[in-house]
Amino acid sequence: MKYWGEYKIRLAKTILGQQKAIQNLSYYRNQLFYYIVLYTLVFSPIAIVPGIFASYQTGFINLAILNALTFLILLVLAFIKPIKIETRKLILVSFLFIISWTLLFELKLEGPGLMYLFTVTIVTCLIHSGKVAYLLILINSIILSLIGLNIEFQWLSLAISEGQSITTWFGVVVNLIFLSIIIVACFEVIFKKLEKIIIQQRQLNEIVNQDNQKMLDAQKVLKEKNEELNQFAHTIAHDLKEPLRSMQAFAHLTISKYKESIPEKGQEFLTHIQTSSERMALLLDSLLNYAQIGKGKQMSAFSVKELVKELERDLSQLIEENEAKVIYNGLPEIVGYEIEFKQLLQNLIANAIKFKKDEEDIEVKIEANEKDQHWEFLVADNGIGIDPKYKEKIFTIFHRLHKDKFPGTGLGLANCKKIVEIHGGKIWVDSEPEVGSTFIFTISKNLENSVKNE
Ligand code: ADP
Repeated sequence: MKYWGEYKIRLAKTILGQQKAIQNLSYYRNQLFYYIVLYTLVFSPIAIVPGIFASYQTGFINLAILNALTFLILLVLAFIKPIKIETRKLILVSFLFIISWTLLFELKLEGPGLMYLFTVTIVTCLIHSGKVAYLLILINSIILSLIGLNIEFQWLSLAISEGQSITTWFGVVVNLIFLSIIIVACFEVIFKKLEKIIIQQRQLNEIVNQDNQKMLDAQKVLKEKNEELNQFAHTIAHDLKEPLRSMQAFAHLTISKYKESIPEKGQEFLTHIQTSSERMALLLDSLLNYAQIGKGKQMSAFSVKELVKELERDLSQLIEENEAKVIYNGLPEIVGYEIEFKQLLQNLIANAIKFKKDEEDIEVKIEANEKDQHWEFLVADNGIGIDPKYKEKIFTIFHRLHKDKFPGTGLGLANCKKIVEIHGGKIWVDSEPEVGSTFIFTISKNLENSVKNE
């Protein structure tokens, strides 16, 4: 098997050279030629050795020489390097042609001779082209007709003309020519169709490649734009904090210094300015936090169960105040960004407790399911639920549904989405108003590879 492999590679290098897999018909014709040489060389001794032996025994020395020459020619075709593939094909076809005519003229073996002629035509059509095969048929027809005439008129004393009847000769020859034409014509039709398919396939491949490239370019641009947007959000949030701080400070100063001289309404307005600027500061901080997500992220293996236990401690006040129950079981160990993952779970658990129904005990269930390519996590609650029409909007920045009833910045779920995305996953919600919500997100199991490919 090892030698066969080496032999195949050696022959491919000699015959095909550094030919790339260009998808056209001549590529396949060359491949066919390569396989013809590959197999004929190996199996030719089965025909050649008995051939030489028989020729020697019967005194047909020419035939013995021809047999030995055939093997030699095959060796040349297979192993001698600086010969173009078209020349190799020509050598093979010419040699087969010579064999046929030697069999016919020298040895009067019209059976095998004619069979060889037919074979040469087919091989030519396969490895070369229909046109060359037709030319060969024409040459054969002329020579075979001349032999036929010679049978009748005895111009030359040829072994093949002896004892033949012109009727039988033309009967056999016409059949051979007819068969050759039919086969070559059929091959030509099939080859034309094949060529069309190959061209279409190549064009399709090119389109797919171009589209892939376009998609990759678009992804790159999108990533850059996202990065820019992140940077922009960060700068804006950062720069706005400075004037906001002075606004807050001056409002505070004005109230404390001039409280007596400012009418009640004025004091009320100033307090409004203060609370609004505090809210704005909170929003800016949240925006800064949003822009920072994923920066300096560190991948590690960690236990989600341990993380939830930590969160129970961090959120103990919220959990106890609301008498909430956090239930979890069979949470796995995963590879991801631990700090960000913790923030993701914290947001979802805190929301599950915050958006509660007044009359019901709060229950938050956390579950994980293992899939082929990813982990699937579920955080389910029995809270107020979400109207299906807001199922997607709630994941966008600053989108809040119950502004008056529940406090918040509208950035919690946007953060969750961003964190899930850096983990190569998706997040969505299944919910029924007044029954509860289940937030589902996936985390890629192949994070290490996807980071490497970025
Ligand atoms: P915030 O909690 O600051 O309002 P979020 O981005 O975390 O902002 O959530 C956006 C909106 O999605 C919330 O205002 C709320 O209306 C809705 N929401 C989020 N989590 C839940 C939940 N567990 N149950 C019901 N509604 C929810």
